[in-house]
Amino acid sequence: MLLKLYNTLSREIEDFKPNSEKEVTLYTCGPTVYNYAHIGNFRAYVFADILKRTLFYNGFNVKHVMNITDIDDKTIRDSIKEGKNLKEFTEFYTKAFYEDRDSLEIMPAGIYTKATDFIPQMVKMIEKLISNGYAYKGEDGSVYFDIRKYKEYGKLSRFKLSDLKENADGRLKKDEYEKENAQDFALWKAWDENDGEVFWETALGKGRPGWHIECSAMSVEELGDSIDIHTGGVDLIFPHHENEIAQSECATGKEFVKYWMHNEHLLVDNKKMSKSLGNYYSLRDLEKINVSPLGFRYWLLTADYRSPINFTIETLQGAETALKRLYEAYNELEDGGIADATYTQEFKNYINDDLGTPKALALMWKLLKDENVASATKKATLLDFNKVFGLGIDKEKIEIEIPDEVVKLAQDREYARSQKDFALSDILRAKIEAHGYIVKDTDKGQKISKI
Ligand code: AMP
Ligand code: ZN
Repeated sequence: MLLKLYNTLSREIEDFKPNSEKEVTLYTCGPTVYNYAHIGNFRAYVFADILKRTLFYNGFNVKHVMNITDIDDKTIRDSIKEGKNLKEFTEFYTKAFYEDRDSLEIMPAGIYTKATDFIPQMVKMIEKLISNGYAYKGEDGSVYFDIRKYKEYGKLSRFKLSDLKENADGRLKKDEYEKENAQDFALWKAWDENDGEVFWETALGKGRPGWHIECSAMSVEELGDSIDIHTGGVDLIFPHHENEIAQSECATGKEFVKYWMHNEHLLVDNKKMSKSLGNYYSLRDLEKINVSPLGFRYWLLTADYRSPINFTIETLQGAETALKRLYEAYNELEDGGIADATYTQEFKNYINDDLGTPKALALMWKLLKDENVASATKKATLLDFNKVFGLGIDKEKIEIEIPDEVVKLAQDREYARSQKDFALSDILRAKIEAHGYIVKDTDKGQKISKI
């Protein structure tokens, strides 16, 4: 089955046909590095990772760019609050982001672009928009995009220019706002005292870029005027992505993105997990409830990326238990097989149907229970599935946590066997089993697994 993806632009599942068969161009709106990313943010990055892995699984090459927003309203506000310079402040959280990414088995993007490294490209794009008549300088010295000039404004979020409020002739300098408040938005923000020491002296005056222009300029610079896929969470549809389209298409005259893809939110008590609501958890918080980063990743895969998922400690711990069971099952399997063609075909059908990970996971458990599939075949098939799942089962050694008392009993049993005291060895085996573990004697010594 060919790859089919849901495109927010058309609100339909479409056949995926990239601009060039040689390479798929993919842009993901990356983190604003003013704090640790929370697990809601990581839903967006795990989703982009599953998408990328699915593209690889289908034989595409992928050129993936992710930006790091190291300059915006929030990074400035919080760096000043902490008395740190912006660079030092944002570098700390950028590093933390990369660490979390690795613990989640998210494949690194080919290119990470820091917004502060692309100021000249942003200025150039804004100058183009001014010369095209789509942007103008306000009385405060900031440059604004004139949304009424761009007749397609609203095509992604289904916002109608005709619905603009009567009084919507003001301008918005802040980056985030609701659809009801749509107005001309800032491309370049003239310096004011809230910016402290953060500014650039450019042809547009002393100031700094708006958030939306950052992604337009970086995407066009690194991937070209038109790209295949752009991802982010649904909260970015308006205004961020709507504004990205306006800026890019008015500057280049070309279609900016072919497929817009958005993940639904991770919720807490049916509200979006967010820093502003204070209802957020980091990966570090999950450790405290014994949920590993990959347990969290497993949990995400149990849901469709286009459905909201509600945070509960119980379901996350359930996912952690399932992941451990998977590791145990994997450890029992033999090497030397090749992947089962029927299973891999069914797997591909599920993931190619707009990234159907819940069905693909169910198939994985069916495979593990299937008595008609040889152990080595199962292992090879599981490793094939894992190219998309990224659940860490391909790591050299998977540690299964065995309680200390069971380890001690196993050590005593080993000693008993070395002394040829088989009666004691059998008693110890029974004790180990009473703890819920089974011990097997192999060429390489004892092997312990859960019953
Ligand atoms: P930010 O760092 O705020 O720009 O957000 C980074 C990414 O996380 C964006 O793609 C957001 O859409 C996404 N995001 C933020 N909150 C959530 C959430 N609760 N659930 C899923 N995605 C989210
Ligand atoms: Zn963006």
